[in-house]
Amino acid sequence: MEMWIKEAQIEDAAMTYKVKETLVTKKTKYQDLAILDTYFFGRMLVLDGIIQTTIKDEFVYHEMIAHIPLFTHPNPKKVLVVGGGDGGVIREVLKHPSVEKAVLCEIDGDVVEECKKYLPEISCALENPKCEVFIGDGIKYVNEHKNEFDVIIVDSTDPFGAAEGLFGGSFYEKIKECLTEDGIFIAQTETPFYLPEVVKKVFNDSKAIFKITKLFMAAIPTYPGGYWSFTIGSKKYDPENVDLSIYEDLDTKYYTKKIHKAAFVLPKYVEDLIK
Ligand code: SAM
Repeated sequence: MEMWIKEAQIEDAAMTYKVKETLVTKKTKYQDLAILDTYFFGRMLVLDGIIQTTIKDEFVYHEMIAHIPLFTHPNPKKVLVVGGGDGGVIREVLKHPSVEKAVLCEIDGDVVEECKKYLPEISCALENPKCEVFIGDGIKYVNEHKNEFDVIIVDSTDPFGAAEGLFGGSFYEKIKECLTEDGIFIAQTETPFYLPEVVKKVFNDSKAIFKITKLFMAAIPTYPGGYWSFTIGSKKYDPENVDLSIYEDLDTKYYTKKIHKAAFVLPKYVEDLIK
């Protein structure tokens, strides 16, 4: 018998992947968690029926959400990742020699434990001594830490449930207070094709709070529409205006210095969305 996982981004559109084996499925305190082994994308983390990350294409998202802010800030030492329980962003953050401490604030400890067990290629850096894993609500954590982080990365699930408060508005004000005086914030901000209203709202909320706000895109096969947005809010440094020549190339599969620049070139329908 064939098994398939179906992810419905909206009521009228969905993606399906053929499943080899269900490795774990459980109801945690916050969500339905599953880790599946699929024929084409390998092992994947699924939360409340939404594909979060897969062995085959996780590198795109984790490299782009980490390296663009970390190459924009001239000397990032302390980084906070909100969400990100699979550890992929932490793995990329710790490729930067200047980083002395990377805090992961993930609300669901089961995500961390199951990803450590079944997705070691992604969660491997969670054991790094520079990484501190804090299990708790990112909203509370950010409220309780002021002027502490050079870069804050919001690597959350979609804007529903526990993650709803991580998108825009007052949370970004608190993020600004939690950042150092020249800090940079970045968030995954959904698909302009299926959720244009989310992309527009988040961009405008960030623009009202940060001196510089930019949007860039990356091509992620397992994300709805295969084309994903990231919003970056910066107190001082412009991610499009960085001298990347001073940096050594990192061990990456998607991020390059050329893609850093090119990612900010938007198609007209996305430009019009954030005008
Ligand atoms: N890194 C993956 C990717 O490539 O997109 C997915 C992101 S990670 C799995 C999303 C995490 O955000 C989930 O583990 C979820 O539990 C966590 N999360 C949701 N709301 C949160 C909150 N308020 N505070 C901290 N973590 C939260």
